[in-house]
Amino acid sequence: MLAGFLNETLDVYGIPDYPNAVNGVQLANVGEITRVAAAVDFSSATVDGAVKAGARLLIVHHGMFWSGVQPITAHRHERLRALIANDIAVYSAHLPLDVHPELGNNALLARRLGLEPSSGFFRYQTIDVGVSGECDLATKVLAEKAGDLAAQFRGTLVTTPFEPDRRTKRWAICTGSGADLKSLQEAARRGIDTLIVGEGPHHTAVEARELGIVVLYAGHYATETLGVRALGELLAKQFDVSATFIDVPSGL
Ligand SMILES: [Zn+2]
Repeated sequence: MLAGFLNETLDVYGIPDYPNAVNGVQLANVGEITRVAAAVDFSSATVDGAVKAGARLLIVHHGMFWSGVQPITAHRHERLRALIANDIAVYSAHLPLDVHPELGNNALLARRLGLEPSSGFFRYQTIDVGVSGECDLATKVLAEKAGDLAAQFRGTLVTTPFEPDRRTKRWAICTGSGADLKSLQEAARRGIDTLIVGEGPHHTAVEARELGIVVLYAGHYATETLGVRALGELLAKQFDVSATFIDVPSGL
């Protein structure tokens, strides 16, 4: 029932994604679910957290198969054994959770920064992964708000250099690893002056400067805590379950 609700709410099978995302139920369980755990990443630490919390469902953004086909040995074997022994199901939602207009990482990051999206950003196949819009705000103020989010999850905001009096007029958000050559080119083409992402490679900061774009890197982990937490809260509201967020910052 929970899985069906999630599949429908997030349009899990209608939204394209990278092959390793394997969205939807990744591991089934047999018993009734009364407690749900939500985490950004599937890992030994988040599995431990789910076991300790007494959860019967672990919802993640980066799922069990993120690293591709790997032998089920060592830590992979241990965490699978712990899941099955404790009858915990795993459900993953990657891009379906990035793009959702209310529960999505991008929409929620915009709200958290006080920004109102007016269109999408970062085309991937048939969808816009991120959001974009207009405002008239000091870039410094946006950076402070993004920095607060990063700090909340033990991260640090990194920005490309900008003048203290610079103003942001057109912005775009793409959480996670949202800065790459493609997103910068789209931003430049659309006159976007400030790009807010989780992370990106070094060359994106160099390229951004060439294009006159300021990039705020608020942390891959921090920017993707928003969606899974909202999903847990929604389940707690809709069903007779309680939800916990398992906070395991990656440092990035
Ligand atoms: Zn991500």
